[in-house]
Amino acid sequence: MRNLMTGAVVAVLLFTGLFGSPGDFGVPAARAQSADSDSLLSGLETGLCTADDRFTIAIHGGAAFWRGAIHAPKIPVMQQILTDARSLLANGARAIDVVEAAIASMENSGHFNAGKGAIANQAGAIELDASIMDGRQLQAGAVAAVGKLRNPIVAARLVMDKSDHLMLVGPNADEFVSKQGGVAANATYFLHGGLNFSDVPLPDDMAIAAADDGVAPEHARYLGIWGGVFLGDLNAILVIEKIDGDKAQVIYAYGKNTIWGKAFYRRIPGEFVDGALQVREPADLGGFKLVYRLGPDGTLAMKATHPDLPGAEGTMKRLSYKPGGEYKGGTVGAVVRDRCGDLAAGTSTGGFDSKIPGRVGDSPIIGAGTYADNETAAISATGHGEFFMRYVVAYDITAAMKYKSLSLEQAAVGLIKKDLRIKGLRGGVIAVDRDGNFTLTYNTAGMVRGVATDSLEPSVKVY
Ligand code: ASP
Repeated sequence: MRNLMTGAVVAVLLFTGLFGSPGDFGVPAARAQSADSDSLLSGLETGLCTADDRFTIAIHGGAAFWRGAIHAPKIPVMQQILTDARSLLANGARAIDVVEAAIASMENSGHFNAGKGAIANQAGAIELDASIMDGRQLQAGAVAAVGKLRNPIVAARLVMDKSDHLMLVGPNADEFVSKQGGVAANATYFLHGGLNFSDVPLPDDMAIAAADDGVAPEHARYLGIWGGVFLGDLNAILVIEKIDGDKAQVIYAYGKNTIWGKAFYRRIPGEFVDGALQVREPADLGGFKLVYRLGPDGTLAMKATHPDLPGAEGTMKRLSYKPGGEYKGGTVGAVVRDRCGDLAAGTSTGGFDSKIPGRVGDSPIIGAGTYADNETAAISATGHGEFFMRYVVAYDITAAMKYKSLSLEQAAVGLIKKDLRIKGLRGGVIAVDRDGNFTLTYNTAGMVRGVATDSLEPSVKVY
């Protein structure tokens, strides 16, 4: 299952107000969020920071591992957030408040793998991670594996402001935050269930496009349905990227001890025949022989054999996607430089699709997925969290600025596009430095990202 986790990074705002009665700094009023409110920006306290004219906000909605249209609905949401945040920052809102509210708004929108739109773990349970950091005094708060709160980013800030600790995890974090005014969410609040893998016995009749499968393409319309087979340390993964009528676009990947970066992968066409998906295998399959079957309930099964493993038959993994909406993926993050010259960063995620219960990624880890230091920069990461933790990426960017006197651009781009890319890291960062310079850099197919400054109108891009 670990191979599955590392091999298949399928990853996956309305600004209308949330800070009811603005508190003094350190006691944000996001706690007053109404249960129905989507947005947390309006009502944010302004007039706090007017020392100079410069400000910058950058936000991200996750690394995009493949090209596709699934990110389109996120763009207007992020555009609106940037528009609202820009006017708040112009009017002297504080970096830490804007980071919290911008991320909470993305969480509430349901368009990202964070908050309402988050994906569940293999057991079908919601376990969310988030962190926030204030660059003024290096204060930070984080929650991990929380499942009963609407806004993990608000929870992270409550931990920072209302406890003597930096990180709380699991049900105890849910409980602490609820007592501090965090808005609770029951299971029906979250749009998605789980991508559940289970080992199931291989059926005797497993074959490509068995005529009696009775598969209806509408059951498989979710983008990103995928399954994998694992033979020893050889892995193969199939992802249905796009379905258009009877045609499907499938991404096929295989590799040895696969980490996504080293996997061979390519797009191949698929076709629904009598309701079942047929995939024409590419000529070079690395020795795999594969059969696929898409079940009527939206499950994808695969079976594989490989000549190097005589007698071995791949365990069929069955993936079921609990209905409830189209899953579009996308960790969220924000970095801000306000008119005081203060920096703040935050990140929030549902983590990897199909993560095993208890898995915590980089997003709540200060220094890995989030970091802010007024002396250097504020950073929020997205991508393969295990790598971001191992290489302490967010902090490392600030360290390169501090100790090697690199610019933000040199430090971030050098790490993401070069040094760590060759080590297999896949993902990107958004970052802003003490002067308001920003960098949005990634080594994946795209990164859902947007930026606005005192002189730059909001702009959102994916590729
Ligand atoms: N970095 C997140 C994690 O590993 C996932 C992502 O950003 O796509 O949990």
